[in-house]
Amino acid sequence: MQAIRPALPSTPTVWVATPNGITIIDTIAVARVLAGAPANLLTKDEAHYTAALMLDHGHPHTTVAERLRISHATLRKWHPDRLPPTRSTRRTKVVCGTIGGYSKHRRTGTPPCPRCKTAYRAAERHYHHTGTYVGAPEFREDEAA
Ligand SMILES: [Zn+2]
Repeated sequence: MQAIRPALPSTPTVWVATPNGITIIDTIAVARVLAGAPANLLTKDEAHYTAALMLDHGHPHTTVAERLRISHATLRKWHPDRLPPTRSTRRTKVVCGTIGGYSKHRRTGTPPCPRCKTAYRAAERHYHHTGTYVGAPEFREDEAA
């Protein structure tokens, strides 16, 4: 008597419920990409799934984004709880009447305005006495000079 074996699918299939419905993940393609094949083998859903696998296995988020050829913003959108918080890259605005304002005039090749010149001289005096520019007086427009 022969045992009846259920037919196995030719490839392991993962069904994933997404906000847009159920999607099929080609795990062979995922495995190939994990092994170094180009990420363009993957659908968006498969890339999303692969990113989760890589993060699960402790790959740094930079490696995940690079391997899957997705931006950090996309990776963050997919897995917001798994990435470190973003640091703001926005710098504080350089304003006239500060040593930074004077430096900006120099960088951009524009003649320093009177407030920036005053701030520069005051900062140099401050540096001469203290050895640092930290805490140098400023002559911003919104402050009394
Ligand atoms: Zn200025």
